[in-house]
Amino acid sequence: MKGLAAFGMGAALFFVQSGVAQMGAPDTPPPVSMQAVHGPLAAKYKAEADRILKAGETDDDGYVALTYLCDHIGKRLSGSPQLNTAVEWGAELMRKAGLENVTVQPVMVPHWVRGEESGAIVAPVTKPLHMLGLGMSVGTPKGGITAEAVFVPSFEALDAMSTEQVKGKIVVFNPGWHGYGVNVMYRAIGPSKAAAKGAVGVLVRSATGLAMQTPHTGSLYYDEKVTKIPAAAISIEDALMIERLCKEGPVKVHLQMDAHMEADVKAGNVMGEIVGSEHPEQVVVIGGHIDSWDVGQGAQDDGSGIMGTFQAVTLIHKLGLKPKRTIRLVFWVNEENGEAGGKAYRKMIGPKIGEQVAAIEMDEGAEKPLGIGYGGFESLMPGAPPFDLSKLPPDQQQSFAALQDIASLLGPIGADRVLPGGGGSDIEPLTDDGVPALAPRTEDLHYFDWHHTEADTLDKVDPKEFRKNAAMLSVVAYVLADMDGRLAGKVAAAAK
Ligand SMILES: [Zn+2]
Repeated sequence: MKGLAAFGMGAALFFVQSGVAQMGAPDTPPPVSMQAVHGPLAAKYKAEADRILKAGETDDDGYVALTYLCDHIGKRLSGSPQLNTAVEWGAELMRKAGLENVTVQPVMVPHWVRGEESGAIVAPVTKPLHMLGLGMSVGTPKGGITAEAVFVPSFEALDAMSTEQVKGKIVVFNPGWHGYGVNVMYRAIGPSKAAAKGAVGVLVRSATGLAMQTPHTGSLYYDEKVTKIPAAAISIEDALMIERLCKEGPVKVHLQMDAHMEADVKAGNVMGEIVGSEHPEQVVVIGGHIDSWDVGQGAQDDGSGIMGTFQAVTLIHKLGLKPKRTIRLVFWVNEENGEAGGKAYRKMIGPKIGEQVAAIEMDEGAEKPLGIGYGGFESLMPGAPPFDLSKLPPDQQQSFAALQDIASLLGPIGADRVLPGGGGSDIEPLTDDGVPALAPRTEDLHYFDWHHTEADTLDKVDPKEFRKNAAMLSVVAYVLADMDGRLAGKVAAAAK
């Protein structure tokens, strides 16, 4: 198991650094954060930051583009024609906005097709299930499968079961809600764990805390040593009903899925730049992912990320600000089910990794921003040690101090905190190799209500909060690209 990004989050992976408590889980404490401290960077960049924030109050370019993306291009799973339409449109958008060196880096992406699918309880009662097949799942045989359901509340419970208890059955996982980081594991590796005990199918409670009969899809990750079995997410309500019925007696479910893989398709990472005035070879890279799931509109995940970072970069350009280093905007491709875009970008950089000065990814939605997150995935993993600034090496402590200084410029939009933990699946290949990882951190109240569902639509993105996220990232990217010195990387690894 690599970082959580290896599980194709398509999402926000922001976990609070207190034991295993996580955002989005019940009774979650507020995230650890540090307050802004006015210092030399704030003194130097106050005028530019104020100009960015002022312009950011009324800039609508990102939201207008997001509206078009959602309503006219829509969902854009890797391999779909809509994704390639979005890639071409994204490049044109960057060109029209006046960014330099706009290119599409060709990337081959997997092509998973959902096809027709359905599920139902067939005994002791008959009831259709609210289901969505998991991304990358195999299909069922024609006509589907009908089998006894076995309710499993945890991996530990599955481990304790005998093969006879599981063999030939459809495992129904419902661990309750413990935050995305815990629940996503049931979606990601639950199918192969169940298959190892002889299960013929898996239904997993959707990775969300909100019960609205909405199934949430997302990638599964098969263990190649085990038979691949079909797997789908079901709504919380349906998972709970199966659980209740299983306590009464035998329950049978039917599952039919046409899901299958087709040949890889050529797509691409979209890139554009503001070329640095003194060190054009040094790059602050910022972006989100252009692909989405094949449901909803990919509005928060991650339309808000690509359009929020687009607005962050174009604000700088429109104001005529020229940082010393290059700011490169990237719409990475295939984050949701393969991360081919992030890997291809890292490959393109090759040995010049040291010239990637910082990597900023927005993939947590555009809810009310709290401030800037700094560090990698590791510090956000369930069970990671509590964050302790004093245990970090001096260069990392200095980096936190520099960010607290920069954050003091963000007081006017109420996003002046620095939070340990940031990053994203697309930038992880960079940050694994020492590039400092940053991400906007939001209050994250509803992201997992909509994530990977039919409900991830434009109306979920509040234009006002969207603008604040863009303005925050604009200031941070500008200062990081212009300031003397640079942040340290590998923060999370060193925190242990
Ligand atoms: Zn995402």
